[in-house]
Amino acid sequence: MNREKSITINGKRFSLEAGETVLEVAQRNGIDIPTLCYIEGSMPTGACRICMVEVKGARNLLPACATPATHNMVVETESERVIQSRKMNIELLLASGNHNCLTCEANGDCVLQELAYRYQVEIVRFPESPVRYATETSNPLIIRDFSRCILCGRCVQACNEVQVNNAISYGYRGTASKIVANGDLPYHESDCVFCGECIRVCPVGALIEKPSRFQGRPWEVRTVKTTCPYCGVGCQIDLHIRDNKVVKVTGTEGVPPNFGSLCVKGRFGYDFINEPERLTVPLIKEDGQFREASWDEALSLVAERLGEIRSKSGPDSIGVFSSAKITNEENYLAQKFARAVIGTNNVDHCARL
Ligand code: SF4
Ligand code: SF4
Ligand code: SF4
Repeated sequence: MNREKSITINGKRFSLEAGETVLEVAQRNGIDIPTLCYIEGSMPTGACRICMVEVKGARNLLPACATPATHNMVVETESERVIQSRKMNIELLLASGNHNCLTCEANGDCVLQELAYRYQVEIVRFPESPVRYATETSNPLIIRDFSRCILCGRCVQACNEVQVNNAISYGYRGTASKIVANGDLPYHESDCVFCGECIRVCPVGALIEKPSRFQGRPWEVRTVKTTCPYCGVGCQIDLHIRDNKVVKVTGTEGVPPNFGSLCVKGRFGYDFINEPERLTVPLIKEDGQFREASWDEALSLVAERLGEIRSKSGPDSIGVFSSAKITNEENYLAQKFARAVIGTNNVDHCARL
């Protein structure tokens, strides 16, 4: 006798693993139940009610993310009742603030927008709620647009459970609800460390990288995967590039060691790339003053001086310092130059762990 426990979703039977929710069984089997507040690996909150499904024998629709899958359960994920519920929910969310997508930074990369399209929500029958809280633009890195916040709580879970920074929480009650930092301080006056994890998980345009605003729509940028140069952890990052300029950095999803998370340096520390004050030609110091020089002249001078020092005092009298602000390949060459050409292991880097 087959004792395997199973569940029926949309007319198909699937095996159950102990402790799984309806959403987890569905996801494992390629059935797309939409979510807004769910974060894989975090405690489900059931806050957004988008993943509601119809369970045979249950009076009400149930949130798939928070409903344990049980043996012989029969579930419909796209029944007429479910679709009507989702449509109503989407309408209410669209009416809950300013969801005119035209200049929203999330346009083209917004779960609420995708859901409105998927469920063909063409008309919002409810009046738009007045904007209660002004957009916070007072720090240089993160914009908080409360008019677009749908209070899904993903940012709170990401900050508290994923990054364990505990910088933000729900504040106030009812229609006055707001995501607050340290009792409602601006981010830069709170415990926020600007890791940007909250931006990463926000499903709409309520949290925005300030330096990236108006720098390009998702379809206007190409991404290049690379390794963050700032420390020895080796986080994988995606450079978002438009017109040959880095306009945003995000963590590469689904790969170690960072699985999409970053720290403030990895996420925001790229402004130096296009900084007009960067040196573009070599400088040689003469009589206390720098003058511009050709690469040939500068390299010849450095080779001559290093050769003299090495002959006179030995290779270990020389040290080579490299930088997180050059490429990984250049850093490799710098250590190779120190070890193989000069003959010293005196190599260091500003981000050494
Ligand atoms: S958050 Fe999404 S739905 Fe709202 S305005 Fe921005 S793109 Fe549109
Ligand atoms: S930037 Fe990081 S620390 Fe600050 S609120 Fe967002 S997740 Fe929390
Ligand atoms: S800021 Fe974004 S992630 Fe946080 S509650 Fe609002 S919509 Fe959700």
